[in-house]
Amino acid sequence: MLEDRYGRQFPYLRLSITDVCNFQCNYCLPNGYQGDAHAAFLRADEIRRLVTAFAELGMWKIRLTGGEPSVRKDLPELIATVATVPGIRRVAMTTNGYKLRQQVSSWRAAGLDSLNVSVDSLDPRLFASITGHDKLQDILAGIEQALTLDFSSIKLNAVLLRGLNDHQLDAFLDWLRSRRVSMRFIELMQTGDNAAFFDRHHVPGDELVRSLLARGWQELARTQDGGPAREFFHPDYHGRVGLIAPYSKDFCNTCNRLRVTAMGDLRLCLFGDAGTTLRDLLQHDDQRLQLKTRIESQLQLKLRSHFLQDGNTGATPHLASCGG
Ligand code: SAM
Repeated sequence: MLEDRYGRQFPYLRLSITDVCNFQCNYCLPNGYQGDAHAAFLRADEIRRLVTAFAELGMWKIRLTGGEPSVRKDLPELIATVATVPGIRRVAMTTNGYKLRQQVSSWRAAGLDSLNVSVDSLDPRLFASITGHDKLQDILAGIEQALTLDFSSIKLNAVLLRGLNDHQLDAFLDWLRSRRVSMRFIELMQTGDNAAFFDRHHVPGDELVRSLLARGWQELARTQDGGPAREFFHPDYHGRVGLIAPYSKDFCNTCNRLRVTAMGDLRLCLFGDAGTTLRDLLQHDDQRLQLKTRIESQLQLKLRSHFLQDGNTGATPHLASCGG
């Protein structure tokens, strides 16, 4: 298993397959995607070589992300490519859900096991004002469809936003009462582009924890190999709640993931500047040894913390640029 200088192991890769996103979330891409929509993002053969190398280094979970992964027309092929690499046991994807209803069955058939859908509000008007798209009902219908497809896990992601959705906790919890879905609340992270928004809307994760405990939710013990999320359950609810609180003390101690951008750069952390290209070593099958050596030696440069608490957002203008 890949291990860094601090003894952390890395079974999990977040692989961005496109920078393009069709939503305009106010904390991420408020003016929509501004880059080159026709950029040469990683091809299926490059992804196969990349994932094969990581799998040989002990990685077994791959999350496809972006940008919005479902803007790629070859998405089912990419899912199948990753799912059939020997050693890969879990293929997950994070999506805004706008193609969920039409396409989720084909993703599942291609080998997708886990699905995260970003839903920042269950109020249609607020959802539209955060994302720029009046699509909530359609996305919720897609989630109901996904629930019939025997995924090993379905999660909703919501970024906590002061003055926008932070008063809607009870609506989210009600929705979880009868559904086997995990709700993932994510603390808003400061990026290169969103400093003013961050100052206005950041909610510390502890506030959510206090609200959950006051409503009878209980924290689950962390598992040894669990990632950085804190998990909560309630005996009266089928669903669970998770919290990703990147500003909390020791958050990075449980880091278990690496990232590769849609252009094939290895990123050791969502934040910070460290990373290098891998793409030159994704062109032929016989480059695999060199590729694995580069990954292993880069990993030794991974820092203990993201230093986000110091306002250091490194090379990350917004999370769509590196698969948040
Ligand atoms: N387009 C997909 C989606 O909407 O889920 C995948 C990419 S998106 C960058 C992945 C996740 O990052 C989403 O759940 C989004 O809400 C979250 N995100 C984006 N910017 C963020 C920020 N500044 N702080 C916290 N979470 C953020």
